[in-house]
Amino acid sequence: MKYKVVEIFESINGEGMKAGELSVFIRFAGCNLCCGYCDTKWANETDAPYMEMELEEIVERVQAYQVKNITVTGGEPLLQKGIAELLQLLSQKGFFVEVETNGSVSLQEIAKNVPDVSFTMDYKLPGSKMEQKMNTENFMVLTAKDAVKFVVSDHLDLKRALVVSQEYGLGRKCNILLSPVFEAIEPEEIVTFMKENHWTEARLQIQMHKVIWDPQKRGV
Ligand code: SF4
Repeated sequence: MKYKVVEIFESINGEGMKAGELSVFIRFAGCNLCCGYCDTKWANETDAPYMEMELEEIVERVQAYQVKNITVTGGEPLLQKGIAELLQLLSQKGFFVEVETNGSVSLQEIAKNVPDVSFTMDYKLPGSKMEQKMNTENFMVLTAKDAVKFVVSDHLDLKRALVVSQEYGLGRKCNILLSPVFEAIEPEEIVTFMKENHWTEARLQIQMHKVIWDPQKRGV
């Protein structure tokens, strides 16, 4: 089995429930969505450069960093053939594995076969133009170790995030993250919205890696 890996690197988790902790990122090539604000478009192009790596090769590479967290990302990592086997093996090796997924791909099988994996699942809001692709059945498999991340472009997105969150009772199942699209909406507007709506279950997150490094910098 060969995996299409764009890059493997160590950094801090810029977002998610392990934000601020060291993690080894495995970024896979390709995505089935096309969000207006995508910051990894370069990894999604059909001609984007990638390495073909075997399962054992990937595990060996990540073990060398001696870090407990692994963030599996993309693109959309769950489109990779054999991704369940890789997640299973990483989990068996004792890593804390977080999967960043775009919300359009079913999580049922992975949740059943690799129960220790933690999902950070995007819910694409109207500002992304991808909301119609969301698989809301995924909400049924999310638990306290998982998070739904709403990437917010504007006030309309905020209102929609609250409606979706209430409709599916997300606050009782999993973590809720609100992440402003970089330079599209002021984080303060999100805080004001949270206060006005007494949205105590939601957590504002700023993409730390864009504050620490040049927002365009890759591999951080
Ligand atoms: S789902 Fe993620 S990787 Fe895919 S286009 Fe949207 S932002 Fe980019």
